[in-house]
Amino acid sequence: MNRSQQLQALESDTIWDIIVIGGGATGLGTALDASLRGYKTLLIEGHDFAKGTSSRSTKLVHGGVRYLEQGNIKLVREALRERGYLLKNAPHLTSIQTFIVPVFSWWEKMFYGLGLKFYDLLSGKLSLGDTQILSKKETVAHLPTINAEKLSGGILYYDGQFNDSGLAIEIAATAINKGATVLNYCKAIGFLKTNGEITGVECIDVLSEKKYTLKTKVVVNATGVFTNAVVQMDDHTQQNLVSPSQGIHLVIDAKFFPGIDAMMIPKTDDGRVLFAVPWHDKVVLGTTDTPIEEILFEPKPLEEEIEFIIKHINRYCTTLITRTDINSMYVGLRPLVKQKTKVSSALISREHHLSVSSSGLITITGGKWTTYRKMAADAVDNAAFIGKFNKVKCTTAHTQIGDELEKENRMQEILKHDASLAEKIHANYSFTKVQIVYAVKYEMAICIEDILARRIRLLFLDAKLAIALAPMVASIMAPYLEKDKSWEAAEVASFTQLAGQYILK
Ligand SMILES: Cc1cc2nc3c(=O)[nH]c(=O)nc-3n(C[C@H](O)[C@H](O)[C@H](O)COP(=O)(O)OP(=O)(O)OC[C@H]3O[C@@H](n4cnc5c(N)ncnc54)[C@H](O)[C@@H]3O)c2cc1C
Repeated sequence: MNRSQQLQALESDTIWDIIVIGGGATGLGTALDASLRGYKTLLIEGHDFAKGTSSRSTKLVHGGVRYLEQGNIKLVREALRERGYLLKNAPHLTSIQTFIVPVFSWWEKMFYGLGLKFYDLLSGKLSLGDTQILSKKETVAHLPTINAEKLSGGILYYDGQFNDSGLAIEIAATAINKGATVLNYCKAIGFLKTNGEITGVECIDVLSEKKYTLKTKVVVNATGVFTNAVVQMDDHTQQNLVSPSQGIHLVIDAKFFPGIDAMMIPKTDDGRVLFAVPWHDKVVLGTTDTPIEEILFEPKPLEEEIEFIIKHINRYCTTLITRTDINSMYVGLRPLVKQKTKVSSALISREHHLSVSSSGLITITGGKWTTYRKMAADAVDNAAFIGKFNKVKCTTAHTQIGDELEKENRMQEILKHDASLAEKIHANYSFTKVQIVYAVKYEMAICIEDILARRIRLLFLDAKLAIALAPMVASIMAPYLEKDKSWEAAEVASFTQLAGQYILK
């Protein structure tokens, strides 16, 4: 993935089949699917890949136990099928994770036991392992810090875990390998129309501030929680399609929640589920669901959300956490679909929403990371219909994401020139310096944040350490980006400011 090479494609007078706006899970999945079907595809992302919600998930590849309780079996079955595809197609970015649901009565044991056995049954051949009913003793063995006082036992079930931004970047690389042009830091700023139909996109290369006017047959708007702005760029009379609801995560040391199992609290005070999930030798706690007004790239956690998570975890565990134990906190925004658009709509009766405006803009939003592939398939099916393209079958269910061997060879090549890059970035983490160089050379990383937030996940794991290591990261990046000391200083200052928001004061 070389940004300048990708940018060159914008200089030509190409008529694209599909331009995808938004480089999160949905947009990247759409670009990959479209390129595999042979459609001439361009994706533009205004910031870095997965800067939005797609790097801020709970990191679960799951069917959604919560939806089962709501009786939405079709949705759960679909998500479980997608979970199976994802674990098969990206084994290096996903893993099987055991979850324990602590239960406090015979009735709860039966209720959650049967429910989770049914959950496993729904996954059919793609089952990750049998759900098991655990005694109190077994539950404590799995969750050593669980408060055993009134505990009756637990239910063990299997789901998946993944590296969200890592997957996004590898989907981008795979799409490029399959012929798509994919660019980060390139923002859509307007549409061109002919007889009321969209025939082009105006965009700006955020780095050079150069504007481009691009011709296309179809545009897919995959901008997640930023959907409204793009819908209104097409038709300023349109009302807001999505309203944001935020979910926060707190990241703590594994000593508070040791072991390899995750915990799922099935009913919080506000009737949601709450997870404690081991991740990179830390534990992610989350999440919340709070309607908010403002849509920001760096959403801020509310005090009551922080207290909510701490209170619930401390209710279940004996090693109590306080605010000072939080290593990092991060916030994601869900695009909740408010209403159907006025215009002709190809609405699909799943968790995600797809609509087509009178000028032909396809908007796809909602869903979850786990179902990104299915959402993409729906978007491309609709794009092919609107653009009157040759009908080609979707093949992403069996497309491998990423190329581990190529990556390893490239890393070795970098190390041949500078063996010192094999060193870890910090003794407590397995990330190495060569990963920084690799991200600059092959993953379009252009600033410290791209590295420490989305290529190496240190900002999400330990925000203070991320700030401390920022100067070292800048000095490794600078020669590869042909930048000087003043760039390094400015980068460190801007990253330090951003990372401050991940620290609980
Ligand atoms: C708190 C939380 C936890 C979650 N946990 C899970 C989980 O564990 N498992 C799971 O499966 N799902 C989870 N989800 C859901 C999942 O994260 C989202 O469904 C998914 O990331 C949405 O991806 P997206 O591509 O639609 O949106 P986004 O990732 O937000 O991508 C939209 C992109 O569009 C770009 N953009 C906006 N405007 C423009 C423009 N004008 N030009 C160019 N680009 C533009 C933005 O920069 C952004 O990168 C979670 C969601 C939340 C909120």
